[in-house]
Amino acid sequence: MPVIRPLPTAVVNQIAAGEVVERPASVVKELMENAVDAGATRVDVAIERGGADLVRVSDNGRGVAPDELLLAVTNHATSKIASADELFRVGTLGFRGEALASISAISRFLLRSRQEGAAEGAELAVLGGSVGEVAPAGCPVGTTIEVRDLFFNTPVRQKFLKTPQTEIGHVTETFTRVALAAPSVHFTLSHNGRTLHDLPPCGGQGRQDELTGWRERIAALFGDDLAAGLIEVASDEPLEEQQDSGPAGSVRLSGFVAHPSHSRANNRLQYLLLNGRAIRDRALQHALGEAYRGLMITGRSPICFLRLEMPPHLVDVNVHPTKLEVRFVDSGRLYSQLLGTLRSKFLASDLRSLGQQGA
Ligand code: ADP
Ligand code: MG
Repeated sequence: MPVIRPLPTAVVNQIAAGEVVERPASVVKELMENAVDAGATRVDVAIERGGADLVRVSDNGRGVAPDELLLAVTNHATSKIASADELFRVGTLGFRGEALASISAISRFLLRSRQEGAAEGAELAVLGGSVGEVAPAGCPVGTTIEVRDLFFNTPVRQKFLKTPQTEIGHVTETFTRVALAAPSVHFTLSHNGRTLHDLPPCGGQGRQDELTGWRERIAALFGDDLAAGLIEVASDEPLEEQQDSGPAGSVRLSGFVAHPSHSRANNRLQYLLLNGRAIRDRALQHALGEAYRGLMITGRSPICFLRLEMPPHLVDVNVHPTKLEVRFVDSGRLYSQLLGTLRSKFLASDLRSLGQQGA
């Protein structure tokens, strides 16, 4: 007779890792998001051999206390939410408490951290899920996480790793998405000791400053020519009042789209942020395409950098472990808002004069 028994923690984490960590870029995403959640103003990402040998992310954020290092690598342990209701108003990028547990289950992992005001920091090594002892460590305020030899104990996964060039392509794409979502943070990315990106902090406090800062960040990532030709769009649609829950708020759309003459062969230059998180959404991509219909050669894709801000209870970000896909309570309404905002911008403007620099 087969016997039912609970799996050892290391195995559970290794299974969970399959969902969270597909390739080095997944590690980069989780570690960068943790740094942003920790309030860092500077985040350095160092990669070796496409991330197969090393992913190291250092930040100057608030750090982890020595007696919480173990919890940080424990599955379903998080400082970001404490109850199920908070799931519906998540303000941080993380909340599932599974990234560090998963990553450390399938790599040689080192977490080193010091909090402001502490005399020294502490570190914790995890080797393929087997957790070491917390030891004192000299280090600056903030957190450094090193992930070496990803998938060393899951050979099947390791086989799926592509060439360092392909993997660094994915890493760069991930880095770009996180950096776009947090323009006020200074980010750097290096590969095998060579700097690929050094993005100074951009923007100020006000809403207009924020958009200006965003354009600067876009310029730093994609070049001045592309950024200079972008057309600013914005709309703010109030939500209906709910009887019981006070002011209903609004759905705010802001950002930039490119002139129809600046199309692309693929949709890789379409960035969509939802409440500060980079997402992909087929319906909204479709709305974007519809807005350009007739203005752009069929088969080409528009360029956009758009931000959606809405009350968090109108969206479920807990649909997928990587949170790249989300579910909207009213996606039809968003579709119309995006389509309507762009259409009226295009109609109201003389397209020949609109954002034509560098066309
Ligand atoms: P989550 O981000 O969903 O909470 P993680 O596994 O990514 O889960 O991280 C677990 C916990 O470790 C976080 O809730 C946070 O308290 C702490 N942590 C992780 N990375 C950092 C960091 N760079 N700076 C400060 N704290 C961190
Ligand atoms: Mg996290």
